[in-house]
Amino acid sequence: MNGSRVLVLNSGSSSVKYQLLDMADGSRPASGIVERIGEGPVADHAAALKQVADELAAEGLGLDSPELAAVGHRVVHGGTRFTEPTLITDEVVGEIEKLIPLAPLHNPANVTGIKVARSLRPDLPQVAVFDTAFHSTIPEAAARYAIDVATADRWGVRRYGFHGTSHAYVSRATAELLGREPAEVNTIVLHLGNGASASAVRGGRCVETSMGLTPLEGLVMGTRSGDIDPAAIFHLSRVGGMSTDEIDTLLNKRSGLAGLCGDNDMREIGRRMGEGDRAAQLAFDIYVHRLRKYVGAYTAVLGRVDAVAFTAGVGENSPAVREAAMRGLGAFGIEVDGVRNALRSASARLISTEASRVAVAVVPTDEELEIASQTFDLVSA
Ligand code: AMP
Repeated sequence: MNGSRVLVLNSGSSSVKYQLLDMADGSRPASGIVERIGEGPVADHAAALKQVADELAAEGLGLDSPELAAVGHRVVHGGTRFTEPTLITDEVVGEIEKLIPLAPLHNPANVTGIKVARSLRPDLPQVAVFDTAFHSTIPEAAARYAIDVATADRWGVRRYGFHGTSHAYVSRATAELLGREPAEVNTIVLHLGNGASASAVRGGRCVETSMGLTPLEGLVMGTRSGDIDPAAIFHLSRVGGMSTDEIDTLLNKRSGLAGLCGDNDMREIGRRMGEGDRAAQLAFDIYVHRLRKYVGAYTAVLGRVDAVAFTAGVGENSPAVREAAMRGLGAFGIEVDGVRNALRSASARLISTEASRVAVAVVPTDEELEIASQTFDLVSA
């Protein structure tokens, strides 16, 4: 292999995000997003990928450039089949297609992105990096739901977890921030973006996470409910007369912060709270309450917690959420420093007091870098 560059592709249902990273010098020569696939000029994923290729070529960084070592694809669901970054072959594409029923919203676009990229550069190594992979170390006691085992196994119903690339990166970066080896550190990672998930990482290995069979379970999110009594679904169906698809849309798109107060953006919620808006305040309180429950639960799961790391859009940018989530946890050894918490910075930093037994950190996530590193490591091995 000659090149040192990796093109990272994140093919979503209506957009393709790309970033070109140079692993030799850490630079990022290109990045962009092609949006609104299916509307207007970008008819489908093939057209979107073609546009990505054209944009790169226009900057002299085309897919045919000799510096390009590999393409790394983000794939949402790896099931129990994929627990590592995987070199893509026809057989691997087939296996990812078989997982579509587990991730009907995400895997189809991922597969299309892979197919088109392979048709554009059939000779180039391409690697799939799975959002579920980091969670494959979760023990059975945490991964299994307490339902009939045969039914669960037949239909693949278990906890897979998502945002794994981010949890992997952030837990490692947190250990680095503390100047310790990942193997020595127990961390609770709170990935709070539009989607949100928590994980408990013991010595670099994930032992529990809040998302489950799908990204719907766990924390309150921008538009997703997170945890809810599953019997609410039967109730909405039998008594409310809603169809399965309607309930799916309710819980994934019309719930969470948006369902509670009409806004899914924490900035807007903060502004409304400042004006005394009670719906926004209640949405914030429910969001924070759920987060605190998970911090408490994961403290018990880990036994000893060395660090709590906040990441993603809300985690990195909302001092109010961090303060409210960590307030009054002195008995857990958690003490946030108000001044440090309020500071803005793009780099990883501690926001706990000197006396705090548990380090509280803000660690900007970097899923593109993690995908590129895993891809490059695999193809240069
Ligand atoms: P992500 O999915 O990681 O891109 O996060 C997106 C979310 O981050 C948005 O929906 C906002 O709720 C939140 N966010 C972004 N910037 C800020 C900010 N300055 N303060 C509070 N929340 C923010």
